[in-house]
Amino acid sequence: MTEKFDVIICGAGPAGTTCALALGNTGLKVALVDKSNFPRDKVCGDAIAAYVPKVLNTINPAYAKALADFTAKEKVSTIRVVSPNKKMLDISYGEDGFISTRLAFDNFLLDLVKQLPNVKLFLNATVKDVVINDKGVYADLDSDLKLEAKLIIGCDGEQGLVRKKLTQTQLDPKHHAAAVRAYFKNVKDIPKATFELHFLKDVIPGYFWIFPLPDNQANVGLGLLSKIVSERKLNLRNEMLRIIETVPYLKERFEGAEMISDIKGYGLPLGSRKVPISGNCFMLCGDAASLIDPLTGEGIGQAIISGRYACWQAKKCFEQNNFSASFMKQYDKTVYDKLWKEHRRSYFIRELLINKPRLFNLSVNLIKNHTFLYNLTKKVFK
Ligand SMILES: Cc1cc2nc3c(=O)[nH]c(=O)nc-3n(C[C@H](O)[C@H](O)[C@H](O)COP(=O)(O)OP(=O)(O)OC[C@H]3O[C@@H](n4cnc5c(N)ncnc54)[C@H](O)[C@@H]3O)c2cc1C
Repeated sequence: MTEKFDVIICGAGPAGTTCALALGNTGLKVALVDKSNFPRDKVCGDAIAAYVPKVLNTINPAYAKALADFTAKEKVSTIRVVSPNKKMLDISYGEDGFISTRLAFDNFLLDLVKQLPNVKLFLNATVKDVVINDKGVYADLDSDLKLEAKLIIGCDGEQGLVRKKLTQTQLDPKHHAAAVRAYFKNVKDIPKATFELHFLKDVIPGYFWIFPLPDNQANVGLGLLSKIVSERKLNLRNEMLRIIETVPYLKERFEGAEMISDIKGYGLPLGSRKVPISGNCFMLCGDAASLIDPLTGEGIGQAIISGRYACWQAKKCFEQNNFSASFMKQYDKTVYDKLWKEHRRSYFIRELLINKPRLFNLSVNLIKNHTFLYNLTKKVFK
């Protein structure tokens, strides 16, 4: 059986739901497909950038208002960077970002999509194959259903099928990170409204994090470049436990704390290289397009930004009835014009710091004492 749409969005994470929200009320018939049933977990640090409500506001002010009213989140306005010699640098960025479990946040976005009459949801439905020919785009689901459309938007994350089927891009350990996270209860001395990034001597420029959540819970994790993980043959789960159990100033804080989830790991495709993110009848967004900040590991904001840009491009495609690869290149340009400069800066800082704990210590000292450097650092972590 074949069902016809204008646009198929594969994946209902932040990229896919934002794209669907932006395509709401456009008159286009949209299929949003996800292999999971929601609410669903996604391994993540759960930190959501302060600019995310502004992006939602540009789509529909009611969505930003709904996010302001959404209670399953902990506001954060300061980043605490702890250097290898344990000097603390608090960077207050004057706006509220927040921490919210992906179980809650992604479901919040999906609930907004459910109100759109032009978007049909297919949950618990895996896209098994994608074929593009001169008649259109065809996506086979794991049921007997086939979806047909003019355009497919791949929002299906790091291991996304759409990228694999429609581009030559391979994941590359030099532009990829690995990270693990677990939820804890009752970690001691969590500073108010603060993300903590601990740059420890032997994991630099990766970091160990503690991000506060409601109800005295915290998202705790460790992330590192994949090429370093494989060169040093590290097991990140064991590394995370080693840090908690042996680094003296952290060990004290975890005494009496309870780990309330498994330690789970996942990959982060980093935006430190430019890859093609569109082609004939398709675009890629978020992790499928490798748009994660190479230093901080943030990708939710980029997923949301690219989801909105993909909608803009989709609207142009339908207005001009042009779905060609050359026309679609405008999407790549829009995304990279917005994100590339920042990602390059993060990449250079990261490369500079690899295996250089002393340089990191020195930098933290300098930043603490120089307003210009402090403001520059604020920009990097904003
Ligand atoms: C340990 C870790 C910590 C992180 N911490 C942060 C952080 O604190 N802040 C931050 O901003 N970013 C963080 N990130 C990055 C962030 O998780 C991603 O950038 C973000 O989830 C990207 O969103 P997305 O919508 O592109 O993809 P995803 O959130 O991965 O969503 C993809 C969706 O596609 C669905 N899907 C996949 N394949 C198919 C298929 N074949 N058919 C149908 N559906 C499919 C999946 O079920 C999923 O729902 C972290 C990542 C990791 C691994």
